[in-house]
Amino acid sequence: MKNYALIGYPLSHSFSPILHGLVYRSWELPNVYLSWEVLPEELELAIPMLKRNLAGFNVTAPHKKAIIRLLDDLDFSAQLYGAVNTVKSEDGKLIGFNTDGAGFLKGLSEVDYELTNKHILLLGAGGAAQTIALELAHQGCPVTIANRELSEAYALKLLLEKRFPEASVEIAQLNDIPKGSYSCIINATPVGMGSLANESPISSDYFRGVELAYDLIYNPAETLFLKEAGKMGCLTVNGLTMLIAQGLKAIEIWFEREIDAELEENIYSSIAKELYGND
Ligand code: NAP
Repeated sequence: MKNYALIGYPLSHSFSPILHGLVYRSWELPNVYLSWEVLPEELELAIPMLKRNLAGFNVTAPHKKAIIRLLDDLDFSAQLYGAVNTVKSEDGKLIGFNTDGAGFLKGLSEVDYELTNKHILLLGAGGAAQTIALELAHQGCPVTIANRELSEAYALKLLLEKRFPEASVEIAQLNDIPKGSYSCIINATPVGMGSLANESPISSDYFRGVELAYDLIYNPAETLFLKEAGKMGCLTVNGLTMLIAQGLKAIEIWFEREIDAELEENIYSSIAKELYGND
């Protein structure tokens, strides 16, 4: 019997082992899900070992892009987002998938939000912002990318325009974003968590007229960004649904079995309890 794992470095705060454990126990599977710290310089050497010993594995920072050239094949999702967070070992081949984009979309569907033709303000230009920006461009949404480091926003704009020549992409400095008619604002920066818990990446006047504020942060459950958006009458979504949905999607890929709504709900409650200590 082969098992499953998460590879990355460092792996200290991952909820993936808890999430996977809950599903495997519910389905009475004998498999285990391991956390395996792999340094960037070890990744290439680790691949044959991962192929031999695992039926699949998740990939997190800093390997999501670096692993691509080491895989045998890429699913459409991995090609679209240019990053891999899930690998399936099948017939001696490693196939890369990306379930982060599906996780992001699940957060929108929870509140029945349609992206079609919406002008999006995306805060951040890192790994998570890249996946979201590619999804937005794929769906034809005009997007303004605001980042602290303008060159990173520019690099993301070039990537989007290369992949989607019709894409409408503006860039801005995070502390000097033009006031515009944004329908939705997405926070893909860590501003609002950890030592930045009392901060918001933008001032509350940006929420005027905005329909939805989506924060990828899941801890705390309600960041200052979401609190202020809520006060201004916006619909709000945090990152917990995305976190859980990307993990559940990986399990569905590996086991070719659908996770039913009841199990999904139980997992959501268990992880929320683990994170926030309530129900
Ligand atoms: P990343 O690749 O390291 O990118 C971080 C981004 O945040 C960069 O654009 C960076 O801007 C910006 N940033 C960092 N510190 C900042 C600060 N003090 N002020 C303003 N901007 C700052 O990280 P990532 O993987 O994209 O993750 C970004 C956020 O999304 C994190 O909060 C992470 O926890 C969350 N996330 C959630 C999920 C989920 O499933 N819910 C999944 C992935 C990520 P510069 O370029 O200027 O440095």
